[in-house]
Amino acid sequence: MPSRHEDCLFCDIVREGSYVAKGKGFVAIYDINPKAQTHLLIIPERHVESFRDIAEFPASEAKRMLDFIADTAREVGLTDYQVQTNVGRSAGQTIFHLHWHVLGDVESNLERHDVMTAVTEL
Ligand code: AMP
Ligand code: ZN
Repeated sequence: MPSRHEDCLFCDIVREGSYVAKGKGFVAIYDINPKAQTHLLIIPERHVESFRDIAEFPASEAKRMLDFIADTAREVGLTDYQVQTNVGRSAGQTIFHLHWHVLGDVESNLERHDVMTAVTEL
């Protein structure tokens, strides 16, 4: 496992935490302050500050990370969801260890689909 970065909450969680799911090099946890019915955080074990540093991941590891996001969303029962990562403080990033938000809410996704249908039918 990559070594723990000084004073990083997500490095600590990767080391000690209990996970929703665990992949090779990645973990998924539930967000402590959910902004949707289901709000997961996908966290790589490797400490990089943000998506800005994605080049630090070898291509195969980056692909495995994306696969893990999709697999975990499927495993918790999501079909429609958002995948989001905040890059930098003014974009809303508060924890400077790369992570992906997976936000799923069946009802609001249905509403959004209805709106999209209405727009395309105009
Ligand atoms: P961001 O603002 O994009 O950096 O996302 C950080 C996320 O981590 C926020 O949605 C927080 O609610 C969440 N968070 C903070 N501390 C914890 C924790 N101990 N366990 C789970 N999620 C956390
Ligand atoms: Zn870290």
